[in-house]
Amino acid sequence: MTTPLHDLTLAELSQKLASGQTTSAALTQHALNRIEAHASLGAFLHVDAEGALAEAAAADERRETGQTLGPLDGIPLAHKDIFVTVDHPTTAASKMLKGYMSPFDATVIDKLNRAGTVSLGKLNCDEFAMGGANENSAYQVARNPWDTTRIPGGSSGGSAVAVAARLVPGATGTDTGGSIRQPAALTGITGIKPTYGRCSRYGMIAFASSLDQAGPMARTAEDCALLLQAMSGFDERDATSAQQPVPDFVAALRALRPGANAAQPLAGLRVGVPKEFFGEGVSADVATATREALAQLQKLGATLVDISLPRTELSIPVYYIIAPAEASSNLSRFDGVKFGHRAAKYGDLTDMYRKTRAEGFGPEVKRRIMIGAYVLSHGYYDAYYLQAQKLRRMIADDFQAAFKVCDVIAGPVSPTVARPIGSQTDPVADYLADIFTLPASLAGLPGLSLPAGFGEHGLPVGLQLIGNYWQEADLLNTAHAFQQATDWHQRTPTALKA
Ligand code: GLN
Repeated sequence: MTTPLHDLTLAELSQKLASGQTTSAALTQHALNRIEAHASLGAFLHVDAEGALAEAAAADERRETGQTLGPLDGIPLAHKDIFVTVDHPTTAASKMLKGYMSPFDATVIDKLNRAGTVSLGKLNCDEFAMGGANENSAYQVARNPWDTTRIPGGSSGGSAVAVAARLVPGATGTDTGGSIRQPAALTGITGIKPTYGRCSRYGMIAFASSLDQAGPMARTAEDCALLLQAMSGFDERDATSAQQPVPDFVAALRALRPGANAAQPLAGLRVGVPKEFFGEGVSADVATATREALAQLQKLGATLVDISLPRTELSIPVYYIIAPAEASSNLSRFDGVKFGHRAAKYGDLTDMYRKTRAEGFGPEVKRRIMIGAYVLSHGYYDAYYLQAQKLRRMIADDFQAAFKVCDVIAGPVSPTVARPIGSQTDPVADYLADIFTLPASLAGLPGLSLPAGFGEHGLPVGLQLIGNYWQEADLLNTAHAFQQATDWHQRTPTALKA
């Protein structure tokens, strides 16, 4: 029996396209059919069948005339609705931007378009990427394909659902404090948040500018490598984009360190295991699956090293001061004047601002704006914002101390498996669940999440790998070796078996 197209990885589809065994039109139509059949998962905010089929036809035409653009040419993808796009509306899952059409494409999207990918549409997420459950979307609930009564994680929840449910072979996401890694972990897929500055933030609707990073979400490390290759690189339109050479991520997947071999591909790799990542905060099932994944790395030749990241717990208050502070400033542009929603009825200008923002923003976004405005206000700035900035530096220093004795750091992504939709009414409880993803975000380090097994209720558990600055290749290489030896990433979500 031949494998159905949606069960093939992006890399396998790329080969099928290259060998003429399929066409972009066939892949795109297949994806469109699946998107429609699984619409109840709530992954998409906007589907553009006509546009996608036209792009697919163009890709097939390039192939027929020998002008193929590269390994991604003709591959259908979908994008988190936080990236602005010319061809599709961009809402950031907020009523504030309902129906908004951007005059330009985000750099990351532009790069993927230029690589020949087909865009199926825009993916659900938390409003302005604020959240970890996708429950803050102003439009619809996103459901975890492993149990449709549960959250897929967030904020890149729609991206995770679309990939996990095999509607698309790959998707874009963004990660400010864990929004690629956490939903990847909760839905059993692979996602990487690159080093801050690796991918351009131009055209990514800003949440917390000193933390926001774009990254790929797909089924395997190999697929993430293919996507990250196209997404990375310096962009003069983003002042924080780095002039850092982009390595060959795909070649790096199979690169062997001195002393390593096919049986022990990770020989020579020192994996730091932070004791703070296995404390009382992590649930027993997640800790067990994570430890088994660490044992697997050991089997592949890696050496485990005990390390400490002493300020792990502080990353929560630090992040939840800095991120809202930056958000309160970034979101001040949504005032009903230049773009987006404007209240229908108002008195003077101040009243117009007030009503527009009261109507346009959801409760979590308002909460963050208020926290942000408070911590930045005169008299509180030194006590909160300045203090948080100092601690942020110390958190980054802790990582540098750790990287003296290890090459990558490994641990859990989320302290628990996916919780039921609607089961959490205290926002702070969700903030606490970000404990293992926030440290790397605050330090600006790359972090990857890969499927590492299953926990309670047969729900996926992710393994997090954190690397030093610009060492995405190490993370992808380690994850690839793990995926060559395990089949967690190939398991099919329960909702799709029926
Ligand atoms: N869950 C975190 C938050 O709510 C992270 C979000 C993100 O990375 N965009 O802010």
